[in-house]
Amino acid sequence: MIIGAGLVGAISAVNALRDGHRVTLLEPEAPGGEQASSYGNAGWLSSHSVIPPAEPGTWKKVPGFLLDPLGPLAIRWRYLPQIMPWLARYVAAGATLERIAVIARALRTLLIDAPKLHFELAEQAGAAHLIVRNGLLHIYPSRADFDAQAPAWSVRRSVGVQWLELSEAELRHCEPALHERYRFGVRVAEAGYCRDPAAYVAALVTHACALGATHVRGTARGFRIESGRLRAVLTDAADLPCDAAVIAAGARSKVLAAAAGDRVSLESERGYHVMINQPEGSPRTPVMASDTKTIATLMQGGLRVAGQVEIASFDAAPNWRRADILRDHALSMFPALPRNLPANRFRYWLGRRPSTPDGLPCIGRASASRDIIHAYGHGHVGLVGSARTGRLVAQLLADQPPEVPLEPFDPRRFA
Ligand SMILES: Cc1cc2nc3c(=O)[nH]c(=O)nc-3n(C[C@H](O)[C@H](O)[C@H](O)COP(=O)(O)OP(=O)(O)OC[C@H]3O[C@@H](n4cnc5c(N)ncnc54)[C@H](O)[C@@H]3O)c2cc1C
Repeated sequence: MIIGAGLVGAISAVNALRDGHRVTLLEPEAPGGEQASSYGNAGWLSSHSVIPPAEPGTWKKVPGFLLDPLGPLAIRWRYLPQIMPWLARYVAAGATLERIAVIARALRTLLIDAPKLHFELAEQAGAAHLIVRNGLLHIYPSRADFDAQAPAWSVRRSVGVQWLELSEAELRHCEPALHERYRFGVRVAEAGYCRDPAAYVAALVTHACALGATHVRGTARGFRIESGRLRAVLTDAADLPCDAAVIAAGARSKVLAAAAGDRVSLESERGYHVMINQPEGSPRTPVMASDTKTIATLMQGGLRVAGQVEIASFDAAPNWRRADILRDHALSMFPALPRNLPANRFRYWLGRRPSTPDGLPCIGRASASRDIIHAYGHGHVGLVGSARTGRLVAQLLADQPPEVPLEPFDPRRFA
């Protein structure tokens, strides 16, 4: 039984089916629907995204996060007492370059060949056109702005990431639609992107069902465990008998993890996107802008501009002013877009990244029963990280040795 049919659940299902397991996908909504973080992400298959979200000195910025509700990272006051333990770990994880390097080495094992793995999966699901392996671009107003991030890039280099630096003329040549304030670029050729993450999830679930999986609509509430063995997943309707379960419920996984005997540090790190249809200006290669901390990706359905980090409870009301900011960033990055973009040309979405404080997912067996497997907590890298995660889940289900060490992803590391 796989709980949750986002990217992690869908890819775990495909891998488990290949090993001959009978698979049920338990998901209350349409797979790939707007409820899932997998629906609206920026599409980046950034195998070089190995740096945890916090950086040395982040603690000094926390008061600013609280005071500016519209900054690139904001924390809602009301949520502060609840979030404090997570926040303390978040700040600690990025406190020194040594700690960042440890996290980077672990994440790299998960991400290193992700664009290739995703392409193969998409090909098997008849959706190869959704995966593009042609690099990603980081853009900066000047070389000095890139130099200011040199420590993070040197950690990336230490784990084998290579890049090409683009002068102003080269950047202009590659990306003619970009505002001229961007004068320096960094191209990471090994990376890629997904042209429609929602369609990708839907294709993977259709493929899983063609391989024999069943999609049951329902919400998992807990587990029936007898003498350490899993007997059933408890749902809002009937109990569903099974002998193995995978918790892949994204930002909703914490409660299920507790029911499986593990107290994990997991929060919904909320982000937004704006989709602009038939854009007059867009990047040829997806770009991440250093000044606006925004990603712009031309997708099947239009230009997607995604970003923002808002720490608030899962169910707190959206703050659409944050999406307005993204729309305005899009207009400032691509001058050909009309200033007075009519409302019917764009659409907003709020998503919830399932985030651990150290930026590493939880992958491993549960304390209450070895039949239950944790597979969530991928934060900012859940699309790119889902391909290897699905393989690791299948290896755990088959009692095979995992292809990469699982210790850094141990769900018990927060105890
Ligand atoms: C704005 C934004 C931009 C992003 N950009 C990128 C990017 O460019 N690259 C990247 O790699 N990552 C990116 N991410 C992160 C990425 O989207 C997530 O890490 C990833 O989608 C998590 O996948 P998941 O399968 O774990 O969770 P989800 O996609 O959230 O899926 C979980 C599923 O579980 C279901 N569920 C929940 N509770 C239950 C229950 N009790 N029982 C049954 N089912 C349940 C939900 O309905 C949902 O469908 C971004 C995220 C955001 C918000």
